[in-house]
Amino acid sequence: MVDFHCHILPGIDDGAQNLSESIEMAKVAAQQGIRTIVATPHHKNNRYENDKQSILARVEELNRVLQEEKINIKVLPGQEVRICGELVEGYDLGEILPVNHTQYVLVEFSSSHVPRYTETLFYDLQNKGLIPVIVHPERNQEIIENPEILYNLVQKGALSQVTAGSLIGNFGKKIQKFSFQLVEANLTHFIASDAHNTSSRTFNMREAYNLIQAKYGNDMVYLFEENAELLVEGNQVYKEVPERIKKKRFFNIF
Ligand code: FE
Repeated sequence: MVDFHCHILPGIDDGAQNLSESIEMAKVAAQQGIRTIVATPHHKNNRYENDKQSILARVEELNRVLQEEKINIKVLPGQEVRICGELVEGYDLGEILPVNHTQYVLVEFSSSHVPRYTETLFYDLQNKGLIPVIVHPERNQEIIENPEILYNLVQKGALSQVTAGSLIGNFGKKIQKFSFQLVEANLTHFIASDAHNTSSRTFNMREAYNLIQAKYGNDMVYLFEENAELLVEGNQVYKEVPERIKKKRFFNIF
């Protein structure tokens, strides 16, 4: 199993605080059946700044340690990029690190807002051959209130990733229901953990996939699992035609 959104690198963001926490996370991931983790520290926000070169060096170091510890996990480099007006410029300057050097860039919105310039920015990214993957849209207040925003971005070629913890209800019933609506409307293409530790924000991938299997059957599980593999290899992923989430149904459900 591939988990392409994880804060496993030690001491550089709000994920693992030191090497022993990284090792603990890797052990939990291995128990879950995860074999490949993309380390995706926050690129730049108010608190952190992690550039491409330092991430690459730290990933190499962590792989060495995991091998010594005999933990069967391969860590690949990546980055969770907070959306900002200078993103394309940052890419041109070599600061942005797509998932495992592929064309896929993980893009994060703030929890409350989707900037008006998103569509233009995504257009510019795609012109450079990059594909934006919106991480945890199910936890964004503006998208929850107006899923049409996500629909439009997906229509125009963006992809999205729901968090395993959201699917199993760790962020509350409302976000859980919305996550399943995104799955059903083909508005999300991947499941990843966004794990930060082994307690409050752990992996939950096995649990999420079990729930997907119970609700939709094995085919859906394979689709999500395969898409995560295709993404880290830089291959084209499976996309179904996105549908609109009906507002009426959306409000009735709560
Ligand atoms: Fe994250």
